[in-house]
Amino acid sequence: MNTTTPPSHFLREHIAEDLARGAVREVVTRFPPEPNGFLHIGHAKSICINFGLAREFGGRCHLRFDDTNPEKEDPAFVAAIKEDVRWLGFDWGPHLYHASDYFERLYQFAVELIHKGKAYVCHLSADDLRATRGTLTEPGVESPYRNRSVAENLDLFARMRAGEFAEGECTLRAKIDMASPNINLRDPVIYRILKRPHQNTGDAWCIYPTYDFAHGLSDALEGITHSICTLEFADHKPLYDWFLEQLDVPCHPQQIEFNRLNLTFTVTSKRKLKTLVERGIVDGWDDPRMPTLSGLRRRGVPPAAIHQFVERVGVSRSESCVDMALLESCIREELDRTAPRAMAVLRPVRLVITSYAEEAEEFFTLANHPKDPSLGSRQVPFCRELWIEADDFALAPPKGFRRLTIGAEVRLRGAYLVTCTGVEQDAHGAVTTVFCTHDPESRGGNAPDGRKVQGTIHWVSARHAVPLTARLYDRLFTTEHPGADGDFLADVNADSLTICQGWGEPMLAACPAEARFQLERLGYFCADRFDHTPAQPVFNRIVGLRDSWSKEASRRP
Ligand code: ATP
Ligand code: MG
Repeated sequence: MNTTTPPSHFLREHIAEDLARGAVREVVTRFPPEPNGFLHIGHAKSICINFGLAREFGGRCHLRFDDTNPEKEDPAFVAAIKEDVRWLGFDWGPHLYHASDYFERLYQFAVELIHKGKAYVCHLSADDLRATRGTLTEPGVESPYRNRSVAENLDLFARMRAGEFAEGECTLRAKIDMASPNINLRDPVIYRILKRPHQNTGDAWCIYPTYDFAHGLSDALEGITHSICTLEFADHKPLYDWFLEQLDVPCHPQQIEFNRLNLTFTVTSKRKLKTLVERGIVDGWDDPRMPTLSGLRRRGVPPAAIHQFVERVGVSRSESCVDMALLESCIREELDRTAPRAMAVLRPVRLVITSYAEEAEEFFTLANHPKDPSLGSRQVPFCRELWIEADDFALAPPKGFRRLTIGAEVRLRGAYLVTCTGVEQDAHGAVTTVFCTHDPESRGGNAPDGRKVQGTIHWVSARHAVPLTARLYDRLFTTEHPGADGDFLADVNADSLTICQGWGEPMLAACPAEARFQLERLGYFCADRFDHTPAQPVFNRIVGLRDSWSKEASRRP
């Protein structure tokens, strides 16, 4: 990870001030995902903020599953979320919690509200609830059940818990103010009946607290000092505070909001991501084109690049949409520094060096990194027959072509200077073999007389090459704001995956899954986490060497 000093932001300053004036002694934050999908790049911002600030100030961060909606939750999501948070480099230690761990205590809090005359069982249907809520300009209408006695409410609430009512028949509502300008305070529902098993509590409950009721109280039970969340919760803050003020809680955490991370050329809504998975548009939640953390991991993005990205995006209170190119440049920067170099050919054509002895072979020592000697070097085999990229040769070169053509001399990277003498073509005129002679005096790729050549191309020794599958990914959507003019599925990029069968130097078979390389002149690649084996190497392209979406970049391969 780069060790630049992070720019400060209001959350960091807020916490520093709270510590300085003694308002809190230890910082305790939490990251509260709902286990109804996989985490995405937007969540990474929340994770880095919550875990990062706790780490920075010597406090702790809890991982709490906000599992109050059994209809959409799944233990498989719980497992994936834990794995992703760890992959980003964070550790909750013993502080793994679930809102559902507190169901009994939350129930008792609801009973306490009833005792205080601050909650009632309401028999309005969902439609009637909606119809009586009012609008931004009109106050709501009080429920006919609002003035039930404490005794009646206690009895009815106990019977809700006992399963005596059907789903939707009644709810428990906080008794606040139907005329409040803030709709969230118009007697919000705090418990509803759902006769569904829960991913953590099984069949123990048939009533479930709402997010608004559970969240602040869970924060208080855990001794959270700073409940950091996204801006859409700003309107819920008065409700968050109201529950904490009415009830006998151990502490009163502060809710502070920041802006969500939105990214161009992708979607960061779990509902939309789920649609992509369910319709088979992508190959699962961890498809390398997905903006999910498991997708980015599978693609090969290093966690350090995500940390850098989140730092650079910054934290504020105004909504914005960040350019995908910024994420890509953070990935490139990190990989340029850390990824060893290797050679592979993805669209191969055969090159034969007629002046090189048939049986001969030799090994060139190539540095693994041009700037970092600590990454060492390797032996790259060479022989008479090589693979080169088909587009590194042209029979009729366009103007300014700096590669191989008949009569031209180029450098085979780190090996020899070769001059093209002719080609062999198939019946359709396609070049099948390029013939060259080499200058034996140019071993290592250096011209003995310092003469200039057309350019430098990469190669792989055909005798030693390992077959390699390369998956080249492009952006998943063709437009900056998918769905801006309607259906986001209409903006899916139909050409977001190209598969190439190529050849690589032997080291690319020997490496473990998730190893990352710069394949010279082709981009940064990662050995697929699940599909790569020494017998069948499979590499995903993480990013190209430059922004292929910017105007001046050439699109190769
Ligand atoms: P939903 O509630 O619709 O299922 P969500 O994206 O809000 O989706 P949660 O699991 O509730 O998902 O999110 C967990 C935490 O991550 C919340 O505190 C939320 O504020 C934060 N978060 C979610 N999306 C983003 C985002 N795009 N940028 C920053 N933080 C986010
Ligand atoms: Mg949410």
